[in-house]
Amino acid sequence: RLEVKNLSFSFGVTQVLDEINFTLNKGHVLSIVGPSGGGKSTLLKLCANILNIEQGEINNSFKYYSFAFQDTRLLPWKNVIDNISLSLLAKNINKKEALLKAENIAIKMGLKQEDFDKFPKDLSGGMKQRVSFARALVINPKLLFLDEPFSALDIGLKKELQEYLINLVENENLSILFITHDLMEAVKLSDEILVLEPNPGRIIKSFKIDEQKSLRDTNFVYKTSAK
Ligand code: ATP
Ligand code: MG
Repeated sequence: RLEVKNLSFSFGVTQVLDEINFTLNKGHVLSIVGPSGGGKSTLLKLCANILNIEQGEINNSFKYYSFAFQDTRLLPWKNVIDNISLSLLAKNINKKEALLKAENIAIKMGLKQEDFDKFPKDLSGGMKQRVSFARALVINPKLLFLDEPFSALDIGLKKELQEYLINLVENENLSILFITHDLMEAVKLSDEILVLEPNPGRIIKSFKIDEQKSLRDTNFVYKTSAK
């Protein structure tokens, strides 16, 4: 599990997070919602060990975790498949196997063979998000940090990727810390939602979503958000 205790953080003199506490259990999805500038991305980066903790504690017992950034952060000098396979090569998996795995997950994310050799500058925003998603999933993480991963996707693809994630959560015990601006999306995907209020970022509300997995029926959100 991932445990955050009394976490506070400042950029210089600006306090961004104030006394954040929560726990994310195995096989659960925890969403963080709240206005822009509230410190959501900062909180996620601290949890993912991309920023260093100043005050408080984070205990992460998940061995394999990965991250899909809000701004994707693909390596501009590497093509689609190399961007995806990079994390596998870093784990000493041989190149042929890594490429095969990268191609498989790329296809699952809706990328096409003809895109595999393209560089990030030649991809649309939605395609970049798919590559970023594939890069995060290719190592079979047990914990996934997702920072608005669907923001540039059309509704059909969004639904597909959400279903893909829900399947991993329910059948393979994947845990997700998920940031979104879309409350309906949070309700659909999560077991628990934290609302972060800005200046400085504080959790002002948290609510658990009923065990009723029918909420995870994507049609629910599909209909609701179409209104
Ligand atoms: P959004 O919903 O727009 O993505 P957010 O909730 O993710 O917003 P953060 O990106 O965590 O918000 O930013 C929180 C605050 O920290 C903002 O005031 C931002 O200007 C500031 N901030 C973020 N990154 C840095 C940085 N590297 N240096 C200085 N200040 C930063
Ligand atoms: Mg953000």
